[in-house]
Amino acid sequence: MTNSQAGERRGRILRAAVRERLLDPDDAPLAAFVDLDGVEDSVAALHKAFPASVEARHTFAAKANCLVPVLEELRTLGMGCEVASSGELAQALAAGFTPEQIVFDSPAKTRGDLRQALELGVAVNADNFQELARIDEILAARSSPSASAIGVRVNPQVGGGGIAAMSTATATSKFGIPLEDEGSRQRLVAAYRDRPWLTWVHAHVGSQGCPLELIARGIAKAVTFADEVNARCGRRQVTGIDIGGGLPVNFADDETAPGFDEYVACLRTHAPALFRGGYQVVTEFGRSLLAKNGFTAALVEYTKTSGGRRIAITHAGAQVAARTVFMPESWPLRITAHGPDGAAKHGEPVPQDIAGPCCFAGDLLARARPLPPLAPGDIVALLDTGAYYASTPFHYNSLPDPAVHGVRIGPDGRIHFRPLRRAETVQHILARTGG
Ligand SMILES: *Cc1c(COP(=O)(O)O)cnc(C)c1O
Repeated sequence: MTNSQAGERRGRILRAAVRERLLDPDDAPLAAFVDLDGVEDSVAALHKAFPASVEARHTFAAKANCLVPVLEELRTLGMGCEVASSGELAQALAAGFTPEQIVFDSPAKTRGDLRQALELGVAVNADNFQELARIDEILAARSSPSASAIGVRVNPQVGGGGIAAMSTATATSKFGIPLEDEGSRQRLVAAYRDRPWLTWVHAHVGSQGCPLELIARGIAKAVTFADEVNARCGRRQVTGIDIGGGLPVNFADDETAPGFDEYVACLRTHAPALFRGGYQVVTEFGRSLLAKNGFTAALVEYTKTSGGRRIAITHAGAQVAARTVFMPESWPLRITAHGPDGAAKHGEPVPQDIAGPCCFAGDLLARARPLPPLAPGDIVALLDTGAYYASTPFHYNSLPDPAVHGVRIGPDGRIHFRPLRRAETVQHILARTGG
C-alpha cells in the first residue's frame, strides 16, 4: 500500500469510528484499532516468503498482541502460537490452538509450567541447563512419553542491534545457552547426546533494531550447531530449527520494509543450510505481522502553551505507549491530526508536545512535533501500534485499558467493526486493585 492509500484507509476508518461513537468525547476518549484485512495480507506475505523446499510452520509471538480474538484470527489464517507464560498459554488455548500448534518459550518456566506443557504436548524450548534437569525429572516421573517437541534455546552470541533492550544474542544475554563460552558448546552437545528426545534447536537473535544480516548470522550458527549435534550423535536427532522472530518494522512511513521475502533472501545467503530440506523450520514473528496493522486514536481534551511551547493534552500516554514514553529515541511513533469528525486536519504545522493523561511530566508521546494546530475535541492517531501497544498496558494512575476494535472493509466499501476487547470499566479497575 502507498502512503496515501494507507492514510486514506485510516481516515475512512477513523471517520466511521466517530460516526459509530467508538470514539466519543464522553464515553470513549481513547480506542485502538486492528486492521484485520491487513493482518491477513501480512500472514499471506509470510507464508509466501518461504520456498516449498522448506517445511515451515509459522507461529505468532503472543506477547506482540495477546488479545484472544486476534490470536483466533491468526489461527484461522494458518498460524501457530508462541507463548512465554502460563497466561499466554491460556490465551492461546482459549483462541483454539491445539497443543501441537503452540511453542512455549520463557527463561523462567516454573516446574508447574513445564509439567503442564509436557502433559498437554505443547512444544517446549528449554532456556538453560537447570531447566533441562527439571525436564528430565518430569519426564522420568511420567508413565507415558510426552508428545511435546523439546528443544534448547541457544545464544549464538553474534552481538546486539540498535536497541540494547531488544538484543538477545549479545555475549552476556540472559537468554539461552551460549555457544561461544568456554566449554559451553561441548557441554550442550553432550546434553543432546544423553537425551534422544531433544530434537529441536531454538534461536531468537533479537527484535526491533537488529539488522537482518545479524539475525541471519545468528540463525546460521544455530544450524551449524544442529549439524554438529547430529554428527556427534551419529543419527539425525535434531529434526527442526526454530528461528524465532525479530523482523524489524519500519515506523517512519507506510512502507512495509524489510518484507518477509527480503528476510528469507538474507537467510538464504547467510544460512543456506536451512534450505537444504533437512530440518523442519518454525518461525515466531510478532511485531512484523501486527505493528503496521493497528493504530490508536485519542481525543484531545485540552490545549495550552507553557514556556512558549504548545501542548495538547490527549488521552493516550504511557498507559498505552509505555515504550514510546520511556524510550522516545528508540520507539518514536508517527502521529496524525484529525478534526472531531475524524477527517485529517490541514492547517500549517506548528511544533506541539503531544501529552498523555498520566500524572508525570515525562508522559509525552512526542515533543515539539510539527502538526496542524490542535484544539479540544480533535483526535490524534498514533500509527503502527498494532503490536506491543494497546495489548501491553502500563497501569499507571489506574487508567482503564481502552477498547480494541477489529476492522474490515467489505468489497462494497462498507466498514465493519467488531470488538476485540471491551474497554475496562471502573469495576474492572477496582477488581484488579483489590477493591
Ligand atoms: C518476542 C519474541 C519473539 C517475537 O519477536 P518480534 O520482534 O515481535 O518478532 C519471538 N520469539 C521469542 C522467543 C521472543 O521472545
